[in-house]
This record gives sequence, C-alpha cells and structure tokens, in this order.
Amino acid sequence: MKSIYNSFPLSLKVVNFVITNYCNARCRMCANDSDNDPKKTEEIDPQILNKFLSEKPKTLYIEGINISGGEPFYNFLLLSQIVKLSNEYVDNVIVLSNCFWAKNTIAAKNKLNLLKSSGLTRLTISSDFYHSEFVPFSFVDNAIIAANELNIRCNLNCVQRYGKKDLDNVCRSLQYSSLLDHKDSFPCTPIGRGKNENAFQIQNLPKSRCKLILSSLAIKPNGNVYACCGVGGFTDPLCLGNASSININDAFQSALSDPMIIALAIHGPAYFLSLDTRLQKLENEKFTGICHLCNTILNDHFYSKIVKDNIDSQRSNLLAIYDTISDFGKVLR
Ligand code: SF4
Ligand code: SF4
Repeated sequence: MKSIYNSFPLSLKVVNFVITNYCNARCRMCANDSDNDPKKTEEIDPQILNKFLSEKPKTLYIEGINISGGEPFYNFLLLSQIVKLSNEYVDNVIVLSNCFWAKNTIAAKNKLNLLKSSGLTRLTISSDFYHSEFVPFSFVDNAIIAANELNIRCNLNCVQRYGKKDLDNVCRSLQYSSLLDHKDSFPCTPIGRGKNENAFQIQNLPKSRCKLILSSLAIKPNGNVYACCGVGGFTDPLCLGNASSININDAFQSALSDPMIIALAIHGPAYFLSLDTRLQKLENEKFTGICHLCNTILNDHFYSKIVKDNIDSQRSNLLAIYDTISDFGKVLR
C-alpha cells in the first residue's frame, strides 16, 4: 500500500497552460466560467511563458505540459505557437479540447497534423452530456479517427453527473471509443457555473489531504501562476505570482515555504477549520469533496482572511512536519 511518505518531498510533474478563457461552448457545469463573449476574452502571452520556462534549472524535470482553455483551438495560431514552445522543454505536450473544429475527418486531420509537426503528443477530448449540447458526438468521433490515423494518443475526459453512468453512455454514443487510449471521468463539482447544477454527491466534511497541490502548476491567460490545477484551485491564496515576474523554479521554491500550501499537502483543507472558531461552522455543511471545501474557504474573502491571519503562527510547526515526512520519503524513493 502507498504511504503518505511516497508523495514527499513534493515534486513538480506537470505544468498547465490555460491559454484562453474564450470557448465556443457554454457548458452548464463549467468550473472556469468560460464563454463565447469576445469582450471578456483574455489570451496568454507566449513570450511570458517562454521566459517562465527558460529559467528552469536542468535538475527540475517536468514530465509534460497540458494546454487547455476555454477552448485552445479557438486561436489556432496561438495554440500552434504554444505547442511548439512547450515541445522545447518537455517530451509530452498534451492539448485538451472539446473538438468543435472536427467537422469532418479531413478538417480534423489537417489541424492535428499541423500540431503534431509542432510537437503535439496527445489529444485529450472533453466530451459528455454537457459538452454534447454544443459539440456533437460525431465531431468527437472525427477527432478520434484523425488522431488514430496520425498516431497521436487520444484520451477522453467525461464529467459525470451523480447517479448516472455517463462515461459508459458517452462511450456507447461514440462509434470509435474503442480507439481511445484512455477514458476518465470526473464528478461534476459545484464551482463556477457548476454551482447552479444539481448533479452532485454531497458528503460530510471531507478530511483527506490534497495529493495534487504543487505536482501540477497552472498558468492562467493573464499570466498568474497557481499552485494547483484542480477544479477550484484558481483562488487568490494559491496564486504564486505572475509569470512575467517569476520563473518556474522561484514559483515552486516559494510555494514550499508557504504554510497554507504545506497544510493542504499534509492535512487537506479541513485543517483550516482548526485555526479559528469562525471557520468551524463549515463542519455542519455538505461538500462534494476536498476541492469544493478548499474553494469554499479560499475563494471567500472572509474565510480566506481568517486562514491567512492565523496560519503564520503554525508555519514552523507545519514546515517541521513537512521536513520530517520528506526525510522518510527520500529514504523510500
Ligand atoms: S468546453 Fe470546457 S471550457 Fe468550454 S464551456 Fe465547456 S467546460 Fe467550459
Ligand atoms: S484541495 Fe485545493 S489545492 Fe488541492 S486540488 Fe483541490 S482545489 Fe487544488
């Protein structure tokens, strides 16, 4: 069985570039609240990303870069530039898309071929009964066929409504799901536009620790760098700075001395409730999981200020626990 020690010291595995907040679709559960209003569109600056990565020390190995949005194919020139740039730093360059561009297999193959020549290694398709209100399953089939013919690995990510067998049913709705490399499903979470959905499994206070924090940094279109790429992770307290002024190594190292981040990695967001009685009323509320709890606390000005005001007194204690666990982890590695 994997012990907690195997995950420590924390190490960076993946960087996520959210290159635009524009999306052709407007899915009801979209945690990022992306939509098709050009006036609100923000796009990432490739030069800033290049600077952020170019100062990566050789000892800092990153397994891959995920490129997402919004819908990253919306600005294909920008997407191609960023795939090319990513390919200079990592072996695995993955693009996440809803496949609105795959109107037929020829169109799909043209787009994917261009990206493959820039360094694309994997296409991850977002498709489920939310996305299909905007992008038909036939388009997804076209993208799967094109990826298969070009030897590009292809995954499916499906947002699952509580109590429904959405992943199975999506695969039945697709003609070519057997060509997919991997299929995954994630629960619908009440964050962003998803707040208005009623498709969740709720539970009492979730007490597990966060296994994702710092293994996967995320950069939003405005250049802000976050310690977490999870649903609900784009909150001010988890922002490490802007990629125009920090580099990847500084961002990671400064996060390792941030007591809030270390507390999430060791204890999970339920730990914050122990810091002040004003947070303890959350004990009686229901959540879908740790990310929902984390977002509820850190995205709320009142709650996050209480955490910030109190967590510094726990800094030395948290960092000492982190060092001890990490020492055990180094022995096991
Ligand atoms: S396709 Fe993705 S980014 Fe676009 S609205 Fe749907 S969930 Fe949001
Ligand atoms: S618990 Fe918080 S930090 Fe961890 S993955 Fe969820 S949103 Fe991110």
